[in-house]
Amino acid sequence: MVQLTAPSEGRILFEGVSKSFQRGAAATAALRDVRLEIAPGTIFGVIGYSGAGKSTLIRMVNGLEKPTSGRVIVDGIDIAALRGARLREAQKRTGMIFQQFNLLETVRVRDNVAMPLRLDGVGASAARARADEVLDFVGLGAKADSYPGELSGGQKQRVGIARALARNPKILLADEATSALDPTTTAQIIELLRNVNREYGTTILVVTHEMDVIKDLAREVAVMADGAVVEQGPVLDTFLRPQTSIARDFVTTVVPQGLPDRVVAHLGGEGLWRLLMVDDEVTQPLISDLITRIGVGVNMLHADMTEIQDHTVGQMIVKVTGPGDRVAAARAFLAERVVHLEEVAA
Ligand code: ADP
Repeated sequence: MVQLTAPSEGRILFEGVSKSFQRGAAATAALRDVRLEIAPGTIFGVIGYSGAGKSTLIRMVNGLEKPTSGRVIVDGIDIAALRGARLREAQKRTGMIFQQFNLLETVRVRDNVAMPLRLDGVGASAARARADEVLDFVGLGAKADSYPGELSGGQKQRVGIARALARNPKILLADEATSALDPTTTAQIIELLRNVNREYGTTILVVTHEMDVIKDLAREVAVMADGAVVEQGPVLDTFLRPQTSIARDFVTTVVPQGLPDRVVAHLGGEGLWRLLMVDDEVTQPLISDLITRIGVGVNMLHADMTEIQDHTVGQMIVKVTGPGDRVAAARAFLAERVVHLEEVAA
């Protein structure tokens, strides 16, 4: 299929967006002064616990929610200011996928996918031809005549993605799109979403409570708590140096951040360091160099390695022992060779 999305399209700006829901006398602040710039063609992740405001945020991009104050600008257009036909026209630029897929159970897969086009007034045969095209893209061409009830969860989400792509949107919104799926199926859906982004240049905004999804899918991440963005940046930076305790808690679910308290108390904090290495740094002979060149003892307590955004990130927690000047020399040696060194506090 031809890429119809120019890379200049699909920019989303949240300009000081706040939202409160009024229920009788009580008001809930779902969003507080959110400022985000989502570049065209990127994959942007928003992570937060349940109730953080993620759904409210994503639903503003296609006008399903309106800000109480502030503006959501999509490709230069203030979405909340649009009504009627102009709003519907703007909504065509955006596709959305959901945790529970939201397919019509009594309608064949092909017609589920063709539905948005039919609603736009596209003729039946043209809509079906486009449905078959996007179903092929998501790897479900053979299931076009099936009903959703005959499909697995992963296949249903592929249909959801095909339906979202039918109108060739500039932006794809994913609201907890993998949260109902097992890890293997989640990985396949993530790969498919990366393909969508690569092939069509579609901007993807994904909200999730799973840091694994952010790690494998997003390029940039914003961390939300209680309606506010508390931290944002490139995904790799957030994994290497989370700034807030909440970001650290999410990072810990993928890369464990420390040792059990009892172990730290037993070892004592001196010379107890957590080291992070990226790419070529992970293959250096750090430990043997510490022992032979610096002359310290090294007790390796933890090591792991993971792939984050096409980078290899390695982690070690070591206890270095020896005379004070040697331990200091070891610290200086390591600080030169790893991207991040921190004390593991006793
Ligand atoms: P998340 O997607 O991160 O779980 P939501 O955006 O769904 O968070 O909700 C943020 C807050 O706004 C929550 O406190 C929720 O109860 C409240 N909220 C969301 N939608 C509504 C609504 N339609 N009416 C009242 N309160 C709502």
